[in-house]
Amino acid sequence: MEPSAQRIKIAVQKSGRLTDHSIDLLERCGLKVTKSKDQLFCFGENMPIDLLLVRDDDIPGLVSDDVCDLGIVGLNVVEEKRFASEADGRPARFKQVFELDFGHCRLSIAGPEETAYDDLESLNNTRIATSYVGLLNNFLSKNGIDAEAVYFSGAVEIAPRLGRAEYICDLVSTGSTLKANGLRELDVLLESEAVIIQTEKPLGADKQALVDKILQRLDGVLQVRESKYIMLHAPKSALAEIHELLPGTEAPTVLRLDGSDDKVAVHAVCRENVFWETLENLKAAGASSLLVLPVEKMLD
Ligand code: ATP
Ligand code: ZN
Repeated sequence: MEPSAQRIKIAVQKSGRLTDHSIDLLERCGLKVTKSKDQLFCFGENMPIDLLLVRDDDIPGLVSDDVCDLGIVGLNVVEEKRFASEADGRPARFKQVFELDFGHCRLSIAGPEETAYDDLESLNNTRIATSYVGLLNNFLSKNGIDAEAVYFSGAVEIAPRLGRAEYICDLVSTGSTLKANGLRELDVLLESEAVIIQTEKPLGADKQALVDKILQRLDGVLQVRESKYIMLHAPKSALAEIHELLPGTEAPTVLRLDGSDDKVAVHAVCRENVFWETLENLKAAGASSLLVLPVEKMLD
């Protein structure tokens, strides 16, 4: 077995919104892990890759300090760490290598429903409660707004009611938490999703080769999530139109159909979801025997 220095360590959220998705994604890349009792460390059984299960806020720091080689964490947390480290004069040493298309949310300014709000200028000379002081201050200074960021570690949405701030800056996905607290969303600072980050420190050839392999598999996993394999029969005369209708397809395979001179079979990978409407349009264009299959793995 490889010495631990040769094994890749990936920081993953221990328990929260990103945990299941992160581990599921790595398992789809072929990794099998043993969960230890304390759940701080998951040992990779079939690859030299181990997971470190930690609070999401610690992930950018662990990657920046080379304790972990990779990390899976929300862009909101990554950007906050970047701005906070810059403000400290110690720029973070990680790079973002992939967007993972889960954990979607946005960092927004919100205020009491009855607040008169025209545009960002309305924030001048106010207090804004947030856990994202770095991101908020960057946004305010970029837009020339003079407002005070008031740090709250949690339960930011009660700050206006407590008289501690006029506005808040917090994560929103559906907006139901804001609504339940009598707040409305006013402006968006950042659209966020889970991303994978890598340390900027060179990893050495073997480790980098393994990281590249994982990233290539991740790319495949993300691509097939929406992809479908579609098969149909079509009159030769309708091929051009049918090709146009196939979503996200480069070059379909066209096969001869036994016993038919005017019809062919068309097989294609569609890199977007195939909806009923698309099938109906294909049928209207002359296609028949339509079949749509999920794609499990893909390697370009
Ligand atoms: P930890 O104990 O690891 O510090 P946490 O409470 O900070 O956990 P979670 O609430 O599990 O974090 O959220 C983790 C990430 O999920 C967020 O940083 C964000 O990127 C993403 N996310 C997606 N939707 C939401 C949402 N509605 N509210 C908060 N975070 C969301
Ligand atoms: Zn957190």
